Amino acid sequence: MKIIKAEKLKEKPDQSKLGFGKYFTDHMFTMRYNPEQGWHDAKIEPYAPVSFDLATTVFHYAQGIFEGLKAFRNEKGEIRVFRPEENFKRMNRSAERMCIPKIDEKQVLEGLFELLKLERDWIPTAPGTALYIRPSIIATKIALGVHASTEYLFFIILSPVGSYYAHGLAPTKLLVEDYYTRATVGGTGESKCIANYAVSLKAGEEAEKKGFDQVLWLDANEKKYVEEVGSMNMFFVIDGEVVTPALVGSILPGITRKSCIELLRANGYKATERRVSIDEVIEAQKNGKLDEAFGTGTAAVISPVGMMEYKGKDYVVNGGEMGKITKWLYDTITGIQSGRLEDKYGWVVKL
Ligand SMILES: *Cc1c(COP(=O)(O)O)cnc(C)c1O
Repeated sequence: MKIIKAEKLKEKPDQSKLGFGKYFTDHMFTMRYNPEQGWHDAKIEPYAPVSFDLATTVFHYAQGIFEGLKAFRNEKGEIRVFRPEENFKRMNRSAERMCIPKIDEKQVLEGLFELLKLERDWIPTAPGTALYIRPSIIATKIALGVHASTEYLFFIILSPVGSYYAHGLAPTKLLVEDYYTRATVGGTGESKCIANYAVSLKAGEEAEKKGFDQVLWLDANEKKYVEEVGSMNMFFVIDGEVVTPALVGSILPGITRKSCIELLRANGYKATERRVSIDEVIEAQKNGKLDEAFGTGTAAVISPVGMMEYKGKDYVVNGGEMGKITKWLYDTITGIQSGRLEDKYGWVVKL
C-alpha cells in the first residue's frame, strides 16, 4: 500500500475541548472502485478536501454507507481498537443492501491499522477520550439516471473525540416519537446507510426544540413497539430482566448492543432480545418495575435515560439517576476498551 505523508502536520487540539467530530487528523485512507479494476489504488494520503462533479450519484440518490468505531491509547503507548472486524463485517452487509460492491475486510483492516500507527500521536489519552474512526463508501459515478453507481470511493477519516454528550454521563431525556418514522421492515433501517440519518433529522430537531436530547423511535406500522434511539440501541431493565428490542429488520444491529448482551449473559444476568411495546415500558414505570433504561452505541458507549415523554406525559426512570446495571456496563466496556480491565472476550485488537 502506498503511503504519502503530509508535509506539514497540524497542531493537536486541547484534549479537554475535543467535543465530537470537530477535528481531523493529518492523513486518511482512500481506495477507489470501478468494474474493470475492482477496488484499487488503496493508499494513505494527506487529509485534504476532495472535489466532485455535482452530478455525482451520492449527492442525488444517497447511495452511501458508513461505520463508526474507536481506538484508544494507554499509558504504555499501546493502541487498542474495539472489535474492528465487526464493523467491516457490518459494512459489507450494508453494502449488499445498498448495491455497493463488497470490500475485502482484511485489506481495509490492514489499511486502518497502518493509518492508526501513522496517526498514533492523535489518539488522545485523557479519560473519556478516544480516536473516532469513520470508514465510509460513497457512489462516485457522474450520472443522473437512477441506477446503482459503477464507481465508488472508500475512505477512512479519523477524529479525536471527547465525551459524546455535552453534560457527560448525565441521564438523558427522550421524546417517544409517535408520528415520524425512521425505518421500516424491508427498508434500510438495519443497514448503516447515510440516508437513514437524513430521514431522522426533522424529528430530532423538533424534539431538541422541546428540550429533549433524543428521539425514541417506535415501529413504523403500529407505532407500538420500541425500536431504537437516534444513533443508539435501546435497553430496559424491567423487573430484573434486561430487555432489548429484537432485530426485526428495521433496527441497526449495534456492536455495543451485541457486546452488552454478551457481557450480561456471561455475568449471570437475564438478557432477552424480544419485541418491547411502549405500553409495556409505561406500565412497568407506573408499577415501579422499570428499574433502568439506557441506550448503547459507539459514540456514547452507554447513555442512561432519566426521563421519557410519551403522548404529553413524563415518565421518570430510576428517579432520574443512572442505574446499577447501566453503570456496570459503562464501566466494564470502557474498562476493556482502555485496558483498565482484562479483555476476557478477545474484543480488543492491540497495535
Ligand atoms: C451506528 C448505530 C447504532 C449503534 O451501533 P454501534 O455499533 O453500537 O455503534 C445504533 N443505531 C443506529 C441507527 C446507528 O446508526
